[in-house]
Amino acid sequence: MGKSNMKTIDLRSDTVTLPTPAMREAIYRAELGDDVFGEDPTTNRLEKMAAERVGKEAALLVASGTMGNLVCLLTHCGRGEEVILGDQSHTFLYEAGGMSALGGIHPHTIANQPDGTMRLEDIEAAIRGDDVHFPRTRLICLENTHNRCNGSALTPQYTDAVAGLAKNRSLAVHLDGARIFNAAVALGVDVKELTRSVDSLSFCLSKGLAAPVGSVVCGSKKFIAQARRIRKVLGGGMRQSGIIAAAGIAALEQMVERIAEDHKNARRLTEGIARIEGLSVDPAKTQTNIVYFDSASERLTAQKLVMELGKKGIKLLPVGPRRLRAVTHYGITAEDIDLTLTVLRELMEGSVAAH
Ligand SMILES: *Cc1c(COP(=O)(O)O)cnc(C)c1O
Repeated sequence: MGKSNMKTIDLRSDTVTLPTPAMREAIYRAELGDDVFGEDPTTNRLEKMAAERVGKEAALLVASGTMGNLVCLLTHCGRGEEVILGDQSHTFLYEAGGMSALGGIHPHTIANQPDGTMRLEDIEAAIRGDDVHFPRTRLICLENTHNRCNGSALTPQYTDAVAGLAKNRSLAVHLDGARIFNAAVALGVDVKELTRSVDSLSFCLSKGLAAPVGSVVCGSKKFIAQARRIRKVLGGGMRQSGIIAAAGIAALEQMVERIAEDHKNARRLTEGIARIEGLSVDPAKTQTNIVYFDSASERLTAQKLVMELGKKGIKLLPVGPRRLRAVTHYGITAEDIDLTLTVLRELMEGSVAAH
């Protein structure tokens, strides 16, 4: 069989999505200007649309989710000031330490619970008193959906509770909402319910929404004005950024509701994995489009399983010696999930037989 007619089923991340035909068309037709002069009409339109969508006054297009979080942290905090965030958070683990490297910001991590929350009492206990020995606490960061915690969705009630606590202590709240629309769709709520009580958020256009590039930072007019300066400091002032924004508009208009399909496929994958001997998964934990599971096989470690799957055109991410991650997204069908399950079952049966 020729390898060329084998479809690749890439479940490593929802960042691998390619732009839709409508996005390519929108990019082709985008009206452009110089955005550093505020003159790119398409970028202006995306920013206005994004702000309205999440119920904030203003928004700012940035190059990536990492840049979005960094811009927000640098806008909220000065050097030697402290951020409270989860020990499993993307910002702490996977953003190259940007807050310390570029902002002199001190991360204060507390435990993420398996559902992606941090206990309110843990947050409370982490807030510094007014003492010359301590860094000043400025900010609390939440992540919704929570990538490392099974893509779980934080509820409006929880978000409001953290924001209430923050307000009482004169702190700000930033939401890493890389997949905030996955959370809204999974919970069946308007995204505004998940953003109403936070001071700033960033969300990705280039993940489940399938745009090729970009994230959007949202907040008050005053916050975004300062964030715009910080973005320029970071070299993120872009010129004819309407090329990117055009796809972002199509993403917001056309790609939010279909996320439900990704969640259905993730559930299908989870339930299938639960029935394969040698693999283990907690079905209750799959809420959105991210599935973590473990291999109990001596022979098929995560690395080996990924290699064997790769030979069949199926790509997964090893995230520990026994642990793997699969993410569903635009372009992945129920048939792709079934094929993945068939191959996984065959591999595991082979593995069991070899014992
Ligand atoms: C992917 C991701 C980011 C960063 O986005 P990039 O565009 O890859 O820089 C931030 N936070 C979370 C939770 C993510 O999953």
